Amino acid sequence: MEIAPGIHSLRQNQGGHVHAFLIDDGSELTLIDTLYDTDARRVVSAIEGLGRSTSDLRHIILTHAHRSHLGGLAALKRLSGATVYAHEWEADIIAGERKAQGITLRPMHPLLTWLPVYPLQLGLTLGLAPHPPCPVDQWVEDGDRIGPLQVLHTPGHSPGHLAFHWPERRALFAGDAVATWPKFSPGWPAFNLNTTEHRRSLGRMAALDVDVVAVGHGEPITAAGTERVRDAAAMA
Ligand SMILES: [Zn+2]
Ligand SMILES: [Zn+2]
Repeated sequence: MEIAPGIHSLRQNQGGHVHAFLIDDGSELTLIDTLYDTDARRVVSAIEGLGRSTSDLRHIILTHAHRSHLGGLAALKRLSGATVYAHEWEADIIAGERKAQGITLRPMHPLLTWLPVYPLQLGLTLGLAPHPPCPVDQWVEDGDRIGPLQVLHTPGHSPGHLAFHWPERRALFAGDAVATWPKFSPGWPAFNLNTTEHRRSLGRMAALDVDVVAVGHGEPITAAGTERVRDAAAMA
């Protein structure tokens, strides 16, 4: 689904209604995150649906190294030869050299709302169904640019968590700093590793003037994005 000109939202139910975003800036294709499935077929069919081929995919950027966002990475790298970007802190987890930092196994409250998230908590902590590893080609930091996207280092959910701003399209890709599934929230409570940093990162994102806020879990926000990020920051 095209949520703004050149921004295509890809989704699957598994991995916590996880989303990835295909960016078409008129020449190259850039993918933010890679969904849960390891065969990447949903991403490939989205690329083909645009009348493009996987070799047009030149950049794959990871918001962070949690399993739901890394499933299709190795397959897509093989198919496209795209350059893979991530923050240095997440890179060795993506490459399979280190386990994702542990998260609490305490159930989140109110339990019924957060119950669908619990299997993912368990899976991430126990290392069930790990992602096929893939080396990161290039480390990126706050202030870098990838195509039309400005990179923001937004730690809190994880230490090397990244968000991306496309000013010309008034769009923010917030990763897991904001979630809209199972409900609108400043990320999933048990998954945010450092709440002080998380709050600071949300404050920075709330200062951007955007309509679209694309999030890692749940449907994208397509209007009044700045207000919604401010709401999330107030809830954190
Ligand atoms: Zn995450
Ligand atoms: Zn996630």
